[in-house]
Amino acid sequence: IEIVGAPFFNESDDIRGVVLVFHDITDLKKVEEMRKDFVANVSHELKTPMTSIKGFAETLIEDDQLDQSVRHHFLSIIYNESTRLQTLIDDLLELSKIEKEGFQLTRLPVDIHALINSCLTIIEPIAEKKQIKVISRLDKKVTIHVDHDRLKQVILNLLFNAVSYTPENGEIVIDVTNQDHWFNLSIQDNGIGIPNDLKNRIFERFYRVDKARSRETGGTGLGLAIVKHIVEAHGGFIEVESELNKGSTFTVSIPD
Ligand code: ADP
Repeated sequence: IEIVGAPFFNESDDIRGVVLVFHDITDLKKVEEMRKDFVANVSHELKTPMTSIKGFAETLIEDDQLDQSVRHHFLSIIYNESTRLQTLIDDLLELSKIEKEGFQLTRLPVDIHALINSCLTIIEPIAEKKQIKVISRLDKKVTIHVDHDRLKQVILNLLFNAVSYTPENGEIVIDVTNQDHWFNLSIQDNGIGIPNDLKNRIFERFYRVDKARSRETGGTGLGLAIVKHIVEAHGGFIEVESELNKGSTFTVSIPD
């Protein structure tokens, strides 16, 4: 608690009393701490790829006797780490845009079939590399009022995670229901699952159950934070059910 005090006087300048203002700054402190953590996290995440880009570039400049294959290997590291930096910067910009006050959604009627199919065109080639089957259970036509591009981003992020955290030969099922003016979209995988006590934390910025694994798949730890923001901006919510080594189901619910 922060206390601010000020005396007040009568006409002959005698103190008549004191006004004390008690300010509960618990929330402000928390916000300030989260902001500091965020800046520290961003700096760390940017520094890691930057260090290796610099290091490998320096070696290439200094040593021109290196084997062609070694040079190629170093250049691929530089290329991959730059891609990683690029993804990170894109995600950070995206997150800051949607977290800004006054962030506007463009809600128009969207054909969910068509939207999911356009996501599948992007995800299927990635899933095929791991022989993961993606099944979509959509029967009747569903049209809902959402921001097309933002919802596409939500579905893509969830599908991308489902593919990343599911071993080879796995299966992903997309299901859509629409009842009582609520639209529900679920994405189920039979992958590695999420420990029970970490189910809420995965929506925090930069939180990852297994940092090394997420890095391997090109993850930034920002995907689910972005998803949650977009869903909540639509007045909806996201839930996850999961069992370790059995799989996870993410369900997005949005009022239509
Ligand atoms: P990342 O870029 O690391 O995937 P996300 O914000 O998308 O970041 O997800 C945060 C973390 O949640 C992941 O690092 C992973 O540990 C966990 N996670 C997300 N989706 C799944 C899933 N389908 N199965 C298992 N774990 C998941």
